[in-house]
Amino acid sequence: MDRLALVVPCYNEEAVMKISSEALRGVLQDLIGKKKISEDSFVLFVDDGSKDKTWELIEEEHRQHKNIKGLKLAGNVGHQYALTAGLFTAKNCSDVTVSIDADLQDDVSVIEEMIDKFHVGNDIVYGVRNDRSSDSFFKRFTAQSFYKMMAVMGVKTVYNHADFRLMSKRAVEQFSEYRESNLFLRGIMPLIGYQTDCVYYERKERVAGESKYPLKKMLALAFNGISSFSVKPISLITTLGIIIICMCFLAAAYALWSYFTGHVTAGWTSLILSIWFLGGVQLVSIGLIGQYIGKIYIEVKQRPRYNIETFLGETDESEKKYI
Ligand code: UDP
Ligand code: MG
Repeated sequence: MDRLALVVPCYNEEAVMKISSEALRGVLQDLIGKKKISEDSFVLFVDDGSKDKTWELIEEEHRQHKNIKGLKLAGNVGHQYALTAGLFTAKNCSDVTVSIDADLQDDVSVIEEMIDKFHVGNDIVYGVRNDRSSDSFFKRFTAQSFYKMMAVMGVKTVYNHADFRLMSKRAVEQFSEYRESNLFLRGIMPLIGYQTDCVYYERKERVAGESKYPLKKMLALAFNGISSFSVKPISLITTLGIIIICMCFLAAAYALWSYFTGHVTAGWTSLILSIWFLGGVQLVSIGLIGQYIGKIYIEVKQRPRYNIETFLGETDESEKKYI
């Protein structure tokens, strides 16, 4: 049977720790009872440098319950990194992981469905919310604009999926090959490319405490998402430059017409044309330099160029080493 690890990043979550631990232990017990996961499955709480009693509470839970593990990071690194630390730690001692927020906004009852989908061969199962009525108008609007913007910029993401997802051991291992420092997990997951599926749920209110994602952090995440996966903004500069050069020809026609019809100040025509033309040339040049910087950017990430899903052939060691 497969050993499941529930990975939960926590930052200043003292208000929810007890409730969360109880609910997640309940999920494990239920799945163990149904023989869908092994008995040594566990919850891994990752303390992301909390300043309150979160870690003390995790320690207490660990003492009291054998299926609670804790990982304390040395300082606050943010949700994406805390989650990554948890996944990489969990992958060494589990077969499948599910990442979920500590505040129980994501519906724990769909974890069973995720496990079922894992058992029929999916390596990643995305938790997708099918309704945003618990969000404020502002959050809904900004989130939807963000997904649309990502799509325009050519970044593949799963619409309305945050970081509630199941990943098999090999999916986490493949993810560990993405060595970039600026992590935007929702952008990387679709690149991994194994068989995936979705489960749908209704997102609830936080059980207790405040959101740890203020607007500033949300905007930073959105910018990181776009700039880490797309060099399209650079191409936009080049396009703008070309448009300006084209407009320069229109301006030239107008300036020459004004010159010949004779009501211009001396020097205006050449001045205005140089301004437009040079402006355009400069933008095209910056865009061109940008294209190279974009390529360097992609190179330095050293992302894997392909991920192998299956290899049909001899499985002895001599062939394995060539894969
Ligand atoms: N979180 C974290 N580090 C941070 C901020 C948040 O580990 O720097 C955790 C937090 O404890 C929670 C999850 O990330 O488990 C999502 O945060 P939150 O619920 O505050 O975000 P929201 O749901 O409001 O977008
Ligand atoms: Mg939340």
